Amino acid sequence: EENAERHRQKMESLGRMMGGVAHEINNMLQPIGVLAEELIISNLVREAGRQHLDVMLECTEKTKEIIAGLLAFSRPGVREVEVVEPAEVLADSLRLARQAIPVNVFVRTEVAGVVPRIAVNRTAFSQIILNLLTNAAAAMGYRGSVRVTLNEHLVVESGHARIVRRPRYVRLRVIDTGCGMNRETLDRVFEPFFTTKPIGQGTGLGLPVVYGLVQEMRGIITLLSEPGQGTTVTILIPVHEDAPDRVGADRTALAGVTA
Ligand code: ADP
Repeated sequence: EENAERHRQKMESLGRMMGGVAHEINNMLQPIGVLAEELIISNLVREAGRQHLDVMLECTEKTKEIIAGLLAFSRPGVREVEVVEPAEVLADSLRLARQAIPVNVFVRTEVAGVVPRIAVNRTAFSQIILNLLTNAAAAMGYRGSVRVTLNEHLVVESGHARIVRRPRYVRLRVIDTGCGMNRETLDRVFEPFFTTKPIGQGTGLGLPVVYGLVQEMRGIITLLSEPGQGTTVTILIPVHEDAPDRVGADRTALAGVTA
């Protein structure tokens, strides 16, 4: 409990600090990219110089990506929240993610019949899916299949005389059969900039961003990983309080959507 609170505070101040830095860098980056692009399309620069400019442009694009990650991480609490059908935002998110993950990675979706509604920001939800699928794809060497499951999570509360089972959370899982993680990696994955990927490939911001977004949803994230076996990321998202316990049976039609 105390540990979680300390972690939250640390992430919050780190987030604020990085947000400021990210803005400054972004401002400086803008003209570099624009000017490099202008030189490339002008005929002022010869072939060899052009190749250098291409590299420069590529680097500014990569930096922009890192900055976008930093900004997502540093802007907690200002996102607009909508009450949504989990299966529907998931399908939407998978459509978006599909563009970014390699074709040899299949995504199998399993939606268990009826899933209660949740209050989330759509963009945040999509970002979570994208980051988790990107990691899963990388862990599997960019081929294989990832399972994404969605179901209601019943919390069993035992009182004196009875056992109450209430759907308190919607459970989202991303399950891969990739390289998995050892203890040291697992202990550090939520640390900003921690990465085991080669320079230029990982930013080390994927999971910290996911962590921050899940916190914003008042959700819970857990990782289960076995080296050589794979990784399961589980996210519990609180059910929207005003939502009825069960959505109509017609919603089951959404089950089994595949990206
Ligand atoms: P990045 O992917 O840019 O390295 P992340 O924060 O997303 O940053 O992940 C941090 C590290 O956690 C990765 O470098 C990798 O070692 C490990 N990791 C994350 N997801 C997985 C996964 N699904 N399977 C195996 N390792 C993972």
